[in-house]
Amino acid sequence: MLDKVLIANRGEIALRILRACKELGIKTVAVHSKADRELMHVRLADEAVCIGPAPSAQSYLNIPALISAAEVTDSSAIHPGYGFLSENANFAEQVERSGFVFIGPRAETIRLMGDKVSAIEAMKKAGVPTVPGSDGPLGDDEGDNMAIARRIGYPVIIKAAAGGGGRGMRVVHTEGHLLSAITVTRTEAHAAFGDGTVYMEKFLERPRHVEVQVLADGQGNAIHLYDRDCSLQRRHQKVLEEAPAPGIDPKARAEVLEACRQACLEINYRGAGTFEFLYEDGQFFFIEMNTRVQVEHPVTEMVTGVDIVREQLRIASGLPLSIRQEDVKINGHAFECRINAEDSRTFMPSPGKVTLYHPPGGLGIRMDSHLYTGYTVPPHYDSLIGKLITWGDSREIALTRMRNGLDELLVEGIKTNTDLHKDLVRDGHFQQGGVNIHYLEKKLGS
Ligand code: ADP
Repeated sequence: MLDKVLIANRGEIALRILRACKELGIKTVAVHSKADRELMHVRLADEAVCIGPAPSAQSYLNIPALISAAEVTDSSAIHPGYGFLSENANFAEQVERSGFVFIGPRAETIRLMGDKVSAIEAMKKAGVPTVPGSDGPLGDDEGDNMAIARRIGYPVIIKAAAGGGGRGMRVVHTEGHLLSAITVTRTEAHAAFGDGTVYMEKFLERPRHVEVQVLADGQGNAIHLYDRDCSLQRRHQKVLEEAPAPGIDPKARAEVLEACRQACLEINYRGAGTFEFLYEDGQFFFIEMNTRVQVEHPVTEMVTGVDIVREQLRIASGLPLSIRQEDVKINGHAFECRINAEDSRTFMPSPGKVTLYHPPGGLGIRMDSHLYTGYTVPPHYDSLIGKLITWGDSREIALTRMRNGLDELLVEGIKTNTDLHKDLVRDGHFQQGGVNIHYLEKKLGS
């Protein structure tokens, strides 16, 4: 087992990783910016190192500072969490070159999946269903591009190969707008990502977002941990997730789960990962792979009983997977509400001092959060301050527990989006299950 892990992240996920390390008897190093001395995991870690000033660019994204912190503390591995450097292939490479274990896939896998064109190509080869599209980058020939769009059928979407976070995309409804959309997306992609490569896909009009969690040890073993539905999104940011995805065609589901497992073996994947799909009319369409642990991983943990972060640490220690596919069973249903420090109506961030914090409790309730009374939420980072996760042996009970949990949750001194969640979990369409990715924005009237 790894001896000492440096946690290159902050907030709830840093605490989540620290807990898993402690359970496995692994020593922990917390790194933090000057604004983050008061973080819960910094208090609990065996060692803590300040890596720079508040702005992420000078702290959590500062590769030399992170590597130096690993060196001075004699760490054996670095866990990147999610966000920040977690999908940065250069970081993974430098970590390994400096003699530390990167808790995640090999740098070349991150690179392969970071470029959406190469990711789609690799997935297609491995038998994962993809969105009908240009099958590669668009060239400069206008006639060719128009022919591709005609073959796919309008509406189409032009996407940047290097895009991320919902940026670098443009929907085109008619031929008259195609060429200018390609030019504009290319220019924007070049400016935003330093890479003007764009490709084309069929634009699906009412899809759900359904994703598949996988684990692979890089030693010839790979499993899937079933699926999650993350269709409730605002501005491409997930708000509320559940596992398993309700009402999915059983045959399409069985096929896609197995295809993801096979794809992991094909690309010799290592670590935890997520295949993201759009699901429409009973069919799955791959859009991208996330090569890291995801914010919503707890819903999968609740229904499978598999500790995903623990498995990441075991895999990074060189151990084979501790579970076989046939042992992974879905038990019940789980939901996760992302609790953000923001106004429920305007979505404006609301940093500041938490004057009272009371997490909900009881059977089937899990609160992953770094908050405590007296803690000050700094203004410099993402507004996620916790995740309320509930489990029940049926979807209905899990949802009832979520309603109760949200009612019990007290966060005073700052604004949170709890009221939005209270409203959502009482929404008739959501209660039925299976709303599409536009549902939340429509409901909010934005
Ligand atoms: P990013 O890496 O920026 O998150 P994705 O490829 O995952 O980009 O796409 C982000 C979102 O854009 C998806 O969740 C979906 O809402 C929308 N989207 C992407 N591709 C399509 C498509 N072919 N049809 C419809 N919506 C799409």
